[in-house]
Amino acid sequence: MDNNTFGVLKDNNFRFKKAFGQNFITDTNLLAAIVNDANVENDIVVEIGPGAGTLTKEIAKKAKHVYAFEIDKQLKVVLDNTLNGVENVDVIFKDIQKVSDDELVETIGTKDYKIVANLPYYITTPIIMKFLEGSYLPKSITIMVQKEVAERLVADAGTSEFGAITLAIKLYGDAKIKRIVSRKMFTPSPNVDSAIVNIEISNKYDDVDKEKVKKLIKAAFSMRRKTLVNNISSVYKLEKEKIISSIKTLGFEEKVRGEELDIEDYIKLANII
Ligand code: SAM
Repeated sequence: MDNNTFGVLKDNNFRFKKAFGQNFITDTNLLAAIVNDANVENDIVVEIGPGAGTLTKEIAKKAKHVYAFEIDKQLKVVLDNTLNGVENVDVIFKDIQKVSDDELVETIGTKDYKIVANLPYYITTPIIMKFLEGSYLPKSITIMVQKEVAERLVADAGTSEFGAITLAIKLYGDAKIKRIVSRKMFTPSPNVDSAIVNIEISNKYDDVDKEKVKKLIKAAFSMRRKTLVNNISSVYKLEKEKIISSIKTLGFEEKVRGEELDIEDYIKLANII
């Protein structure tokens, strides 16, 4: 951690809180690389968890404006200091999970925004789902997550990492791992390495009834050990023979498992059953 940020934290007797997933990064090259991964160019950016403001400051160099939501009010004195003189940043001391879609848009004054965050690991999935399923989709989501989670977010169908979250992301956009970040880059250092994942939102499936597809995906992964047919039949209360014939129409065997079908297959299957 650079001396200045470290000094500010120390001067304010700041104690890192595990419960808020507080692992801070200060390496300017890494921070600038994350902003580059997020493709920030004169955008309105929503940052989740500014911490000591190091990433916030880097984002602010490229963004039109940054709205940073921070749960920990004890960081106010720290952020007042580290972001002093940075004009295009507003820090909002609120739990992002409790900010409604309308409140977010009202606060930032637009529906046209990008998300950039070194996310607290305990809310990775809820945060991704909150923004993908919300009323105002961001243009992109660029987040630091645990490396193992990153691998699940970008997995290919047929691999063991492929799951409901992978499919949910594919329904809205394209996810890529931009870089792996060593645990050594954080203070305090966590037990796992991380990765930057960028999700570019696309309008590829705008015409698809997403609720129907999501219901099917949820059913398909309801019991990991069961076959797709058994999972669907227990959730939908449909005759097995009917489901088997639909699955065969798509070119799969009766015993196929949920992770072997890709998003296009789920979209087709949701229309048949
Ligand atoms: N952005 C900083 C950095 O890169 O060094 C800090 C990242 S740290 C991994 C996660 C930050 O998210 C912490 O500052 C933590 O207090 C904040 N946080 C945790 N839960 C939050 C929530 N529900 N809403 C907003 N911020 C949250």
